Amino acid sequence: MRLQTTIESSISSDGVGLHSGEPSRLWLHPAPAGTGIVFHHRGSGLRIPAQVDHAHELSYATRLGLADAAISTVEHLLSALRGLRIDNVVVEIEGNEVPILDGSAAPFVQLIDRAGVTSQERPATALRITRTIEVRDGEKWLRVEPASTFSVDYRISFDNPLVGFQRYVGEITPESYRDAIAPARTFGFLKDVRYLKSRGLARGGSLSNCVVVDEERIVSGELRFPDEFVRHKVLDLVGDLALLEYPLEGAVTAYKAGHALHADLVRAILSNPERWELVGSDSRAAFVAPYPMDLGVRPALAV
Ligand SMILES: [Zn+2]
Repeated sequence: MRLQTTIESSISSDGVGLHSGEPSRLWLHPAPAGTGIVFHHRGSGLRIPAQVDHAHELSYATRLGLADAAISTVEHLLSALRGLRIDNVVVEIEGNEVPILDGSAAPFVQLIDRAGVTSQERPATALRITRTIEVRDGEKWLRVEPASTFSVDYRISFDNPLVGFQRYVGEITPESYRDAIAPARTFGFLKDVRYLKSRGLARGGSLSNCVVVDEERIVSGELRFPDEFVRHKVLDLVGDLALLEYPLEGAVTAYKAGHALHADLVRAILSNPERWELVGSDSRAAFVAPYPMDLGVRPALAV
């Protein structure tokens, strides 16, 4: 039986938002068993649980919103938390977008490592798939089949010859996530980057936080893995599946999927409760916020 986990101490990081280009700072705080992953938007004071009901998935990022508050580009942080099996944490954000850092989840993994991880007194719950669930959008599809572990078989296919067809197959454990998935950076094609910037997006994007691909070459330098592109799609999937709240036990197969289809699968799972069961403890404690609100003098924003 796995016990729930949280981080041992509060820790912070800062950077710029990929799309807004604005500086932002985040704090990760320990949280009691049963909390789940909850965002605390400092500007509005609102708390937004990382649940699909609050998610708006755009083609290029996942955003959590509640009332007037919105926090963009949450998927890489959620991916690190879920990839390392952190069940309970409060993410406090100053700004409206999670910093992009190097475009991968590796800096978040390092942050969690520095904070430390601790087991809690209550058993962890998993959502175990018992019957296959599939979502489609044209030629793109995403499927989850019964399995006692969480595994991924992800395929992408791009016309660009530098990306082409890539496939990643493997079980996602904290160890495999840390080594094989977390370092994979987000990517974009030079023509799309120009288009996004013309629409006021990707303002914080640079060659230091995004793999940029031209027709003939990788503009941003050496890749971290020959198949870094598909590994990043797995990273995004792990983050978007965190919107299920419970860690998934199932075998996921994906073809040319993305944030929108990932969230569609989450919704399809939650609306078909006869196709899964919760294993372990399934009770969630009411969120009582006994995390430190008074953090003393806050460091100045990074610019
Ligand atoms: Zn991503």
